[in-house]
Amino acid sequence: MENGQNKEGQNQAEQNQEAWILQGEETLYKTYNRFPVVFERGEGLYLYDTDGKEYLDFFAGIAVNALGYGDKEYTEYIQEQAGKLLHISNYFYNMPSIKAGEKLLKASQMDKVFFTNSGTEAIEGALKIARRYGFNKGISAEKSKIIAMKNSFHGRSLGALSVTGNDHYQEPFKPLIPGICFAEFNNLDSVKALMDENTCAVIMETVQGEGGIYPASEAFITGIRALCDQYDALLILDEIQCGMGRTGKMFAWQHYPVKPDVMTVAKALGNGVPVGAFLARGKAASAMVPGDHGSTYGGNPFVGAAAEKVLDIFASRKLVEHAEEMGSYLWEKLEEIKVKYPVVKAHRGMGLLQGLELSISAGEIIRKALLKERLVLINAGANILRFVPPLVIEKKDIDEMARRLSKVMEEVVNG
Ligand SMILES: *Cc1c(COP(=O)(O)O)cnc(C)c1O
Repeated sequence: MENGQNKEGQNQAEQNQEAWILQGEETLYKTYNRFPVVFERGEGLYLYDTDGKEYLDFFAGIAVNALGYGDKEYTEYIQEQAGKLLHISNYFYNMPSIKAGEKLLKASQMDKVFFTNSGTEAIEGALKIARRYGFNKGISAEKSKIIAMKNSFHGRSLGALSVTGNDHYQEPFKPLIPGICFAEFNNLDSVKALMDENTCAVIMETVQGEGGIYPASEAFITGIRALCDQYDALLILDEIQCGMGRTGKMFAWQHYPVKPDVMTVAKALGNGVPVGAFLARGKAASAMVPGDHGSTYGGNPFVGAAAEKVLDIFASRKLVEHAEEMGSYLWEKLEEIKVKYPVVKAHRGMGLLQGLELSISAGEIIRKALLKERLVLINAGANILRFVPPLVIEKKDIDEMARRLSKVMEEVVNG
């Protein structure tokens, strides 16, 4: 390809959506079954495809785009940083990531932060803290057992996959890292049965996301905290999806009377600029030492500026409180849908992280919503509709979503 021309000699900008899809299928490694839509731009809660059609977005790039699309204050800030300095490596300090780090620590009451390029890398770092913590106890590889949860999701790299309790994801890539065992989420006895002196950590999502929007019960999470204290193991909470204000608190664990030793964030942290982090406190914050972990890009000035601005905007626009308020309104609207359509079996979630469990596959509804009603939804597991809109959503957007979703439900239920 030269001068913006593809092999047919067309101007790429003028190629229609179908042609882009064909070209994408030829080019991109096929690990996704993508929807036949090419988005080109967005504004607020709305997305536009290359044919200029408008879509209402309740997907937010998988709970990433907290500020919606085209936020002026955010965009101008990262543009300015891009012009100053993008990258410098971790051999040096840089101001944006120090400022972003300070704000994250303040919001989480953690002691130290390490910036990563993705969620799965944040999990890798958290697991390395756990293993290092066990190693530091002087009993060498003995204190290396990690307890994870069934039905969980922590990412696709081999370490994160090793603690992801999903056979379908794990099976083709075995052998995975050793020393991991799985308990049942919200079943404290199942954790108790696995816990021992050789356990260095328990890892769990505060609210299981991909697994179907299951919040931890208070008894479960406080019980695990007590077990971790009793056996000198670290509690790692994965806040990659449920963190950053989505549940109506800055971090979902702040709904409970517990504090993790290590926590992970990503998704909404950069509002689309790829940045994640692991944070640690107390004994976990000093478990790793210089030379133990690193990243070429991690926390560069550009992503630091993105995270810094996101955290500033969260504070100045009171987005966490807003998410709580909009979450209650979304709850009411989804309850109405649940009452009206018996295919909805259950409704779960917190704040702007909610799910409707269906007695049928979610796939057909999502496809119809996208292609006919121009409503962008995502599933969580095979039969759960997930609602993770940008946090800047307003009541009118929720009303519009409910209107479009009802039309799809009518069609699916009445054939
Ligand atoms: C998305 C997600 C991850 C993985 O994040 P990536 O940025 O895709 O690597 C890990 N944990 C949870 C809970 C997630 O939702």
